[in-house]
Amino acid sequence: MQRIYMDANATTPLLPAVFEAMRPFWIEHFGNASSIHQQGQYARAAVDQARESIATMLHCRSSEIVFTSGGTESDNFALFGLLSAPRPAGAEIPHLITSNIEHHAVLHAAQHLEAQGIEVTYLDPTAQGLITPQALQAAIRPNTKLVSIMLANNETGVIQPIAELAAIAKATGALFHTDAVQGAGKLLMDLSPKGALKDVDLLSISGHKMYAPKGTGILFVRRSVRLAPIFHGGTHERQRRAGTENVAGIVALGKAAELAQQWLTEDNPNDGRTHLTQLRDRLEQGILAQVEECGVNGAGAPRTSNTSNLYFDHVEAEALVIALDLKGLSISGGSACQSGATEPSHVLTSMGLSPARARASIRISLSRLTTEAEIDAALALIPPAVARLRDLSPTYKKSDTLAVA
Ligand code: PLP
Repeated sequence: MQRIYMDANATTPLLPAVFEAMRPFWIEHFGNASSIHQQGQYARAAVDQARESIATMLHCRSSEIVFTSGGTESDNFALFGLLSAPRPAGAEIPHLITSNIEHHAVLHAAQHLEAQGIEVTYLDPTAQGLITPQALQAAIRPNTKLVSIMLANNETGVIQPIAELAAIAKATGALFHTDAVQGAGKLLMDLSPKGALKDVDLLSISGHKMYAPKGTGILFVRRSVRLAPIFHGGTHERQRRAGTENVAGIVALGKAAELAQQWLTEDNPNDGRTHLTQLRDRLEQGILAQVEECGVNGAGAPRTSNTSNLYFDHVEAEALVIALDLKGLSISGGSACQSGATEPSHVLTSMGLSPARARASIRISLSRLTTEAEIDAALALIPPAVARLRDLSPTYKKSDTLAVA
């Protein structure tokens, strides 16, 4: 059976061109980028070139890129690097503002800081999944030191008004971090002094959400920002992140950044006209036309071109994910990091969905490799699978009976 992969927000396939770029660095060019001999210098040059490619994608200085092991480390580095320093007795307690729709890499880090005595405010989204500038403005305090709001949500794809939010933080003297893991490779990002993200101070990216391997990522740290390292050891990454560089992974990330920039400038998804958006809309419209009592979570808000979060009332998402898996279609119920958990998605419930509707929600996330034929195949699989599960659902039968009565 030819499988269809529609879970790109969990991880993207590794692109062959990315794999080919990194391949020589596993066996042939295995040098340590800190060694002074030729093999070391070859690795160093490759790391430097990758840093340039990522800086080009982000419109920032290459010295502002710190290589990490992925999104989780980058998010933890931003929050702990700024807020976990010991405070002298009597010093003001710093305040962090984040949101209830963040990935656990931010949410759990914030909760950990809270347990250490930092003041934390968790903003709720609107029903569409948006964190509004008004909500942020109202939460700002004189001691607000950091605001951390994600660029695009991993479950719904909803894109946050980061430029406006970051401007509010800047005006009050707070720093602004954005978890851009689900924006990288999907949205153009401009951190230059005149760019839309000019007020963003810290930005996290993960390689395996943009067609590079798992275990790679970066944190952008604006030149003016001083972060305390969370890893202690060697002087790597200008003393910001100790540990021998993952040269092959970094080369792959650099190549993925080059390819992302190429796609984004050829086919700009910021205006919603991409091929991927067309595929996503065709899938959504096809499902909505064929299935009753279903809808799109986050509809109406700006969303990344590849993501669709749908609820099917009277259906357990987990059962639907398994039924479709057996037919060869890979999708996800809520975020992958929570799979196995029976709790409804914290993102969907904070948007005001009932726990039942949140549990009835699935996430379909397309990749750059998704084809029209795959969309049609998914459209042939999803409505009948929903119908079969509803046939077994006591609530669906009950409402049918009521309708007849
Ligand atoms: N932030 C967001 C929005 C994510 O979607 C993910 C992964 O799903 C992460 C952070 C964590 O990234 P990583 O898997 O590279 O640790």
